[in-house]
Amino acid sequence: MTSDIVYLNGEFMPLNEARVPVLDRGFIFGDGVYEVIPVYSRHPFRLAEHLRRLQNSLDGVRIANPLSDAEWTRLIGEIVARNDGDDQSVYLQVTRGVAKRDHAFPKDAKQTVFLMSNPLTTPPAAQINDGVATISASDFRWLRCDVKSVSLLGNCLLKQMAVDAGVAETLLFRDGKLTEASSCNVFVVKNGVLLAPPKNNLVLPGITYDVVLEIARAREFEFEVREVSEAETRDADEIWITSSTKEVLAVTRLDGRPVGNGKPGPLFQRMHALYQEFKQTVMRRAA
Ligand code: PMP
Repeated sequence: MTSDIVYLNGEFMPLNEARVPVLDRGFIFGDGVYEVIPVYSRHPFRLAEHLRRLQNSLDGVRIANPLSDAEWTRLIGEIVARNDGDDQSVYLQVTRGVAKRDHAFPKDAKQTVFLMSNPLTTPPAAQINDGVATISASDFRWLRCDVKSVSLLGNCLLKQMAVDAGVAETLLFRDGKLTEASSCNVFVVKNGVLLAPPKNNLVLPGITYDVVLEIARAREFEFEVREVSEAETRDADEIWITSSTKEVLAVTRLDGRPVGNGKPGPLFQRMHALYQEFKQTVMRRAA
């Protein structure tokens, strides 16, 4: 399977031929933003929403969007067509460009635009059926977690804590409140009510988070979008993590203790099935 044709600043080329100058501000400062778009049966999922979030991230860091939505759509379609596999994960990145090193924005740098695609790997059946273990940590990231910035050092350090502990994710608490996880959003279920931390500057506005809440609304789950305390999280009947590649997974252990009865709960099972159904329906409509 080849998944090595990438796009860089106007050209398609093999991954191992793509080169960025060392003075690119993405390299020097982590000065850029990105998106990850899941592609099912060669159809990008929720593309309009991903492009809207990209625009919000660019606005958040004051980089002009180098392409129109129509141009992004064409480019994403082309990278999908040039790579093997019906299910892919398209990564795109925009940096402020190449300039002499200076914290202040350069006057005339041209944005660097990079796209690649990898085979989409969704969670194995064991993780869906048994759930995953997690640890927790204090959320020490910056206060603009709503920007999907390539400056991911905080997220990398927090994810490595999970890897070192032999678990899937690190759930994050800030000032006694649940924010998200190192690379996922987090939901909690208590007494049959689905609780979702609100979208604000402390969390990435997940595309999957929105899909889950849309399904919850359409299928009359009882749910509340509100701050969730650390105590509520530790006392939850169910915890879920969501992302474009993990979809919806049950968290069955937190810091070595079982969540609820230690098995994926009934609301998770219902949501997981509805999420798969939703995906199928959207993709059938797109085909
Ligand atoms: N939060 C963080 C910190 C993330 O990196 C991600 C994406 N991996 C998410 C939430 C989930 O976002 P999405 O559903 O759009 O993949």
